[in-house]
Parts: sequence; C-alpha cells; structure tokens
Amino acid sequence: MSTTLERWEPVIGLEVHVQLGTATKMFCGCRNLFGAPPNALTCPVCLGLPGALPVPNRRAAELAIRFGLAVGGTIAEVTRFDRKQYFYPDLPKGYQISQDKGPIVTGGTVTTSFFGDGKTIRLIRAHLEEDAGKGQHEESGGSTLVDLNRCGIPLLEIVSAPDLRSAEDAWAYLNELRLTLRTLDISECDMEKGSLRCDVNVSIRPRGTTPFGDRVELKNLNSFRGVERAIRHEIERQAALLEAGGKVELETRLWDDEKGESRLMRKKESAPDYRYFPDPDLPPFAVGRAWVDRVAAEAPELPLKRLERYTSVYGLSDYDAKVLITDPSICRYFEETTALCNDPKNAANWITSELFGLMKGGVSIDDVKVRPTHIAELVALVKDGTLNVRSAREVLAKQYEDPRPAKEWVEKLGLVQVSDRDALVAIVKKGMEMNPKAVADLKAGKEKAAGAIVGYAMKETKGRGNPAILNEILAELLKTF
Ligand SMILES: [Zn+2]
Repeated sequence: MSTTLERWEPVIGLEVHVQLGTATKMFCGCRNLFGAPPNALTCPVCLGLPGALPVPNRRAAELAIRFGLAVGGTIAEVTRFDRKQYFYPDLPKGYQISQDKGPIVTGGTVTTSFFGDGKTIRLIRAHLEEDAGKGQHEESGGSTLVDLNRCGIPLLEIVSAPDLRSAEDAWAYLNELRLTLRTLDISECDMEKGSLRCDVNVSIRPRGTTPFGDRVELKNLNSFRGVERAIRHEIERQAALLEAGGKVELETRLWDDEKGESRLMRKKESAPDYRYFPDPDLPPFAVGRAWVDRVAAEAPELPLKRLERYTSVYGLSDYDAKVLITDPSICRYFEETTALCNDPKNAANWITSELFGLMKGGVSIDDVKVRPTHIAELVALVKDGTLNVRSAREVLAKQYEDPRPAKEWVEKLGLVQVSDRDALVAIVKKGMEMNPKAVADLKAGKEKAAGAIVGYAMKETKGRGNPAILNEILAELLKTF
C-alpha cells in the first residue's frame, strides 16, 4: 500500500455504458453494426428528420431486463423515456432519448467472484438510452466530419454505488460486470470497438472518517488497465492537493493514457443543464410479469451457475472451470469439444494447457484454426492408444498452422504409437541392462528410478513408445531380473 493510501481512503463509483447486442437500433430499424461505411446505417429517425417517430426496440428492453434479473435488481413495472438536452452535431435531434425518472432497472449487486476478493458492489440503476454518432476532426481544413452509424444504437447505462475502495476494486468490478454481460449475450463489451465505455467518479477522505470528499469525474478511459491507472493517478493528485492545504474542485477531467495524466475538461459549475422531460413521442410502457418471466426463462446461465455445473457435472477443478468461464467464447469452444469427445476433463486440459500455450499475443479462440473437432479427435487418439500425449502435442502444434485432420499428420510424421509388445520388451530389457543402478533402486522400492529406463525406451522409440505398456513390461521384467 502506498503511503497515500495509509492516510486516505478512496471512494469510487463507476458509470458504465454498454451497447446492447440487438439486431437493430433503439428507436428505428437501422442495423446495429460496427465497421460499416460512414453514414450507411441511417434513416429519418436516427437522422432526426422532422416528423420521424421513434419506436422502442423490444429486444433492447428484454436485454436490460435480463441484466436486471441477473444482478438481482428490481424491474420497473412501468418504464418511460425522457429527453435529455444535448446540443452536439453527433446527435442531430438536439436531444438524447434516455431514462431519467423511470429507469428500467433499479438496485441489484455485482460480486467480484471471479476477478476479485468476493466483494459485493451495489448498483443504483441501469437505464436504457440511445448512443450518439461519432465526430471526426479533419487534419486539414479544420472541419469536422460526422458519422451517424452509431447514432441510435441502444445503450444500457449501469451506475454503481460509490462502494469501490481502490483501483484494483474498480478493475475487478469491471471485469465481473463484463463477464456477466458477455455470458448472458447482452453485449460484446469490446472497449476497442466502443461497445463498453466507462466514466469514473473518485473522491478521497481521511481514513477512519465517513463523510464523502468532493469528487472528480474521469472520462476518456479506453481500457480496464487505463481505468486502474487513471484512478491511481487521481487518488495521488487529490491527496497532494489536500495535503498542500488546497481543496479538490468538483470537475470533470480527461485521462490521457499515453502521458499517464489527466487534464481539466470542465468545472462542475458549468456542467450542462440537461432539462429532462418526458418524451411526448414515447408513452410510458408497462413491463408485465409474464414478459419478465419469459425473459428469465430464456436467459443463459450465469457464470456462478456455470461454475457449479462445470465442477459438479463435468468434474473439473475450481481453477480449471474458472479459466474456461472467464471467457464465454472459450466456454462455447469447450462445450462443443466435450459434446464431441464426451471427455470434459481431457477436453479442458487440452484447451487450457496445450492450445492456450500455442495462442500468443491476445489471439481470440474464435480465430484459431484448430477447432473443437480437432481437439476431440486428439483426445480420442490418445485414449485408444494410437498416439501418446507427446506425439499428440506434436500434432496439435502442426495443426495450429495447418489444420488438416490429425490422422493425416500422424501418417505424415510417422507418429503412430509403438504398442508392439515384443519390440518393446526387447527395448526395456536393454534399458535395464544399461541402468543397473536404476534396477537396484527400483527393487529397493524407489519408484522414481523407473524414469531412467522408461526414458531410455522412449528415446529408442523416438518418443512413440506407449508409456502405459512400457511401465507394465518393466514391472513384469523386474520380477525375474
Ligand atoms: Zn435509423
């Protein structure tokens, strides 16, 4: 703990915006897609043309309800939309449709079971709103271009209580939240594509006291590690101010990750007045019990539920199960492999130790050429004795570059395991003759000594001896040697 943290206790709250994984936008039929040519995904509604009327996206509301249920929040019986004044060209209506008084979800908690120390963080609310477009400043000419493809994409804004007490807490909370959102197919949560964004509120108070200090809002955070760094920096900045006899100003600051520092964006006194009022085009709508029940029934299992299934039904260790569960695309891969080979333990093993060992530099499992069919085949080939583990590893490494079926690689590399008993007996005998000390040790009960002899036999078979048979032969020969 830094000396600053011995004197000061940070109080941190997060506002997280996630783009919901719907097919279409929040209030129109334009597609919700990343990476299309600028302004290809627009219509009179999201362009804010006069007379165009919004129609709420049912799926977006369902995903918000799914989230609310997952975190144990309260789903509003009646939810409504408000207009929030917003005067920038990336939202041509001149206002953003959001939820002020009637958010779809209130309350709930997130517990850092997978990424932290099991701390429970309360949520204040989660509400629906529409995203704005993206402005792009031109280098030459000084003009600004605007791309409205993002304009109108459904967002869920998730506001935590100020329950976080350190930068590490914030990092764990964000990871836990993302895991829930991704496991439940609510959002991709890809910060690089902007489908997850977050703002952080930080204040500090002398340790042992309860009143909150004046808080600063940090914006422009581009990664979870960036969030952590920005919070650490802000804690030090505020402590230095207070310890020099100054005071913390209520303000919004922009984080510059490259420089590792923040700069003032605006003082709170000049914060915009949003002048919320109910959107006259969107009457309040009732969220019936039957609808909520249907959403609950359709929801995928939560990470903790999945952990329970992986350990009890599949017999995986807590550790292995967590390694899989922290990435939903790895879970899909693992479940597909298990369905093919019916051997969850070996499937998990091959994926987490062997395949992960080959994947370098942030490669996603969805982009790996080795597919679940390949892993399932290797598991089967080891099980039926065609390959020993060492050869199977060799095949996997080859398949990682060239994903032809294992059998082709086995043939090409001459890897079929030597299980011919007579041939192996001769080799083991030779190994015993060459290692009299190992034989003596074995007879004295030192089982580890077998390594020298089996190792010799493996070398003689160019790594293709069947280790189970080799050990069996050795045990038999020992009786008469
Ligand atoms: Zn549209």
